[in-house]
Amino acid sequence: MLEVTATRSLHVQRFGHNPAIFAAPGRVNIIGEHTDYADGFVMPAAIDFATLAAITPRSDGTVAIHSVNFDEQINYPVDNLPPKASHHWSDYPLGVLSVLREAGVPIPAFSLTLNGDVPIGAGLSSSASIEVASMVAVLSLTGADIAMTRVAQLCQRAENHFVGASTGIMDQFIACCGAENHALLLDCRSLEYRLAPIPSHLSLVIANSMVKHSHAGGEYNTRRAEVEEGTELLRRHRPEIRRLRDATPDDLARWGHEMRPEVLKRCRHIITENIRTVAAADALEAGDLKTLGRLMYEAHASFRNDFEASCPEVDILVDLASKEPGCIGARLTGGGFGGCTVNLVENARAQAFSERLHEEYREATGIEADIYLCHASAGAHRIASTEGETQLAKQLPSFH
Ligand code: ADP
Ligand code: MG
Repeated sequence: MLEVTATRSLHVQRFGHNPAIFAAPGRVNIIGEHTDYADGFVMPAAIDFATLAAITPRSDGTVAIHSVNFDEQINYPVDNLPPKASHHWSDYPLGVLSVLREAGVPIPAFSLTLNGDVPIGAGLSSSASIEVASMVAVLSLTGADIAMTRVAQLCQRAENHFVGASTGIMDQFIACCGAENHALLLDCRSLEYRLAPIPSHLSLVIANSMVKHSHAGGEYNTRRAEVEEGTELLRRHRPEIRRLRDATPDDLARWGHEMRPEVLKRCRHIITENIRTVAAADALEAGDLKTLGRLMYEAHASFRNDFEASCPEVDILVDLASKEPGCIGARLTGGGFGGCTVNLVENARAQAFSERLHEEYREATGIEADIYLCHASAGAHRIASTEGETQLAKQLPSFH
């Protein structure tokens, strides 16, 4: 966890006042891949890497934002904020201000210090964590009472419409609503969710394969088109199928032969992944770790064989993990074609697991993986401002 005290003193040194401090976490998706745009289910957990946002009001009509990570400060008159993105880190907090203003929240003048330890660009969603941390910090000055699920939607809007990155709702939602020692099963259609307990003796080990295939963007678009093609075909038979979320394995058994082979495979991944994701939440609730692990390995096989979005390096990471003592389950997490694996590992073995995985992966590929040892953590919250800085305050459902 980040140095709260250091962030506070950096803010005081620079802006002269003692700030209120908010935290919003990064995340890892435990199961449910490429199900979001099918209106299906995802099950991420917030992790103990976070962005801190320290804030104080100003009386000179200026918005001043300092990123400790980028060692840079920006200043704008509150009445003349940039209307569009400039491919700069400040797009994220400025996007947040833009959507809040659009939503009718008057933006005050303030000084904001941002300091994060979510690895940037590693697939752990530092972007959602900076958005959510900035938004809850600014809201704390405004008196606007906005539910956390709405904060998530507004932050997604900031990323989609201001920053210009098309992402689903998962990252912002888990950054807002995650809970310590819990995964969150999210229905991407209704935004209903339920928390499923992750036993406290388990760690989330995230291993970055360090592979990022440049064709990923094009492949992603092809997959989206294939999924749409399959959905349309099923819809002709059953008009109530709006998205693959509404389709069943029976539908595929009846009409799958009418699809091109690769379209059938993409649809089968999504339809079975939705079922696995709900089953994984049930398994966590029942304390059935064996089933959970099996579902994670099955999800990986489906991602690799049916969705064809894995790569040899990631398959090696999953295979190596599956042979390690104390590993409950492992799979590729994120969009695919490289990126990270998520491994559920017993705490007592997690350190040794991480070291061996690093070593064996290097032996197999010559690549040094970044490995992050995490625990399922709380969503956005204010940090208590008393002695014992590192004590976290209780989670806030909304801000007044
Ligand atoms: P990811 O979300 O996977 O980490 P993205 O490319 O979506 O990667 O978002 C990373 C971007 O978010 C960074 O390049 C930067 O612009 C912004 N960002 C994240 N954390 C910070 C921070 N602490 N300070 C300033 N900008 C940040
Ligand atoms: Mg991101």
